[in-house]
Amino acid sequence: MTTMNLPRNTSPAHAATPPVPFGTDVTWTNWGGNQSATPAFTVRPRTEQEALDAVRFAIREGLPVRAVGSGHSSSPLVQTGGVLMDMSALSAITGTDRDRRRARALAGTTINAFGDPLWEQGLALGNQGDIDKQQIAGALSTSTHGSGKNLGSFSSNLRWVKLINGHGEIVEIGEGQLRELRAAQVALGTLGIFLEVELAVEDRYYLQEQITYPTWEETASTWDADIDTNRHYSFLWCPEDGSCELLDLPGSPDQNMRNRSYTKRYNVAHIRDEQEISGVEGARLDRSYRIYPDGFNTQFHELEYFVRSEDGLAAVEAVQELIRTRHSDQKYPVEVRWVKADEGYMSQFQGRDTTVITLTTEPGTDYWQFFRDADAVLQEFEPRAHWGKIHFMTRSRLERLYPELDTFIQVRREFDPRGIFLNDHTRALVG
Ligand SMILES: Cc1cc2nc3c(=O)[nH]c(=O)nc-3n(C[C@H](O)[C@H](O)[C@H](O)COP(=O)(O)OP(=O)(O)OC[C@H]3O[C@@H](n4cnc5c(N)ncnc54)[C@H](O)[C@@H]3O)c2cc1C
Repeated sequence: MTTMNLPRNTSPAHAATPPVPFGTDVTWTNWGGNQSATPAFTVRPRTEQEALDAVRFAIREGLPVRAVGSGHSSSPLVQTGGVLMDMSALSAITGTDRDRRRARALAGTTINAFGDPLWEQGLALGNQGDIDKQQIAGALSTSTHGSGKNLGSFSSNLRWVKLINGHGEIVEIGEGQLRELRAAQVALGTLGIFLEVELAVEDRYYLQEQITYPTWEETASTWDADIDTNRHYSFLWCPEDGSCELLDLPGSPDQNMRNRSYTKRYNVAHIRDEQEISGVEGARLDRSYRIYPDGFNTQFHELEYFVRSEDGLAAVEAVQELIRTRHSDQKYPVEVRWVKADEGYMSQFQGRDTTVITLTTEPGTDYWQFFRDADAVLQEFEPRAHWGKIHFMTRSRLERLYPELDTFIQVRREFDPRGIFLNDHTRALVG
């Protein structure tokens, strides 16, 4: 995780210091260990007012500001030499509305922390991804997603946000301001510091899990049916026997997993009482939020590309061919998921029902040629990339791939005319 220890008020390089607890020379490192920074000041606001004071201090001192959530992004989104805002203390569910199916939470609330409080109100998040450790504002900022043809990303469910803009003001964006809301849905931390958000959620539901281990030919032959008939369908294709174990997934007990898939299906189950809950591996039945995975113990680095769902099968086969013919040293499973189209200007799913292809590699190995080759092989499918994972996006690529890029940049400049919320990475992309 991060290596921040706060507060640690030692002699700062700047004469002025933030009017909130801060640390200096505090090195921040992300979960994957491939990104780090030593900001001038690291602050951990405990209240909205402290967050506002920290941003106003940065504006006065001419320092840039970035927020950090749980540090699970492996792209250089968080780095700053100015003020780093650790948002973890701003964590709570602040309200639920059963009739409107809405939940409000402070920006630093982890996805995991939505589970019990929402359930008690008869509600649940509509979907989750492979882990639940991210803070909600971090997940929203990169359009974090799970899988399911009819299920959108977290960002697609953002309905309201309260944030601190680059003028040093607290402002709100709601459904009456669609232009701004669509910019806020996926903002890479560049509109300002999110303080509180409102999400569309669902009536609570139980999920039944089904894990199977088909051959690749079987996986491909039931492609459409599996996507269409399951609420949540995803799979991990194994290039080798032993691939599953690299991600701590139980391989088939009686099959060599080479060229097989570890498939996951989750469908809504109706139960009479919670006595029916079952923890049988591969066939669990439980409250939705307890079925979705919680975390990974071993580090890895990922590249994740998004193609139109009609191109999904061809794109996966192109990646398989690449691994077989040019990168047979790559043993990790290739994960494949589906996400419904949405309207966030910078969302990877903007206007496209999407197949997601995730390539996982081992930290400390030289995976760059593999990632570059995958990027090249997938170009014919006009892929977008996960903002929070390793990618090769440039401004000119964004101009081709995101029809609303200019609108996003206009909104960003209105919220932050001096660009205090930009770092080198985001300036190059959306500055
Ligand atoms: C093990 C693992 C599993 C993963 N599984 C999935 C998955 O299943 N699906 C998927 O889509 N992604 C997945 N990811 C990627 C992850 O969801 C994203 O990188 C996500 O953005 C991380 O959230 P975070 O809270 O760690 O944010 P960080 O990585 O800390 O920050 C991400 C961005 O959010 C901004 N930000 C954070 N808080 C605020 C705030 N309060 N205001 C404004 N901006 C803010 C930061 O400035 C930064 O730009 C996974 C990553 C890992 C390491």
